[in-house]
Amino acid sequence: MTKRIPEPFRIVFGLVRPLMPDVAIRPVIGSREIEEAHRKDERVFAATVTYQGRPNVFEVHFAKDFERLAPGFQFGITIHELGHLVALHLHDNHEESAADLSVLGHWGIPLEHVSRLNLQFITSDLIDTLYRVYEQGGTLDDIQWASTMDESSRRRLLNVDPYER
Ligand SMILES: [Zn+2]
Repeated sequence: MTKRIPEPFRIVFGLVRPLMPDVAIRPVIGSREIEEAHRKDERVFAATVTYQGRPNVFEVHFAKDFERLAPGFQFGITIHELGHLVALHLHDNHEESAADLSVLGHWGIPLEHVSRLNLQFITSDLIDTLYRVYEQGGTLDDIQWASTMDESSRRRLLNVDPYER
């Protein structure tokens, strides 16, 4: 089992760091808390918490199994965690539904919920866009994402195994 920083963390939070210069964001891989949460509920692959109650320091915990997910789910879950961070930091909102709504509201990013585990997912088109903007030194504010997944693609993904690549 590796403990390396997930690639989607590097890209997604790299795209948001310049927008939140007063906020420190640390990845934590395989903490006791997240591994236990994942054992209890297979759907839990990540969690975002404030560090020692400090409102400007966040930890994004990833279960080791996160690495096994297909990229669309790794990115979808990471963006969902960014949504939690934004909802917590800007709106003091801890609700589950606030996470997806905040990334949709701030950056127009629609998170799908698909696979047999009903996990957050983004398309490979959107992943390509994230990489392109990241490599150009841009931020999430440069992403004007407006397209949603078409219904037949979504239906096809509803019952897939999220670990399949
Ligand atoms: Zn959540």
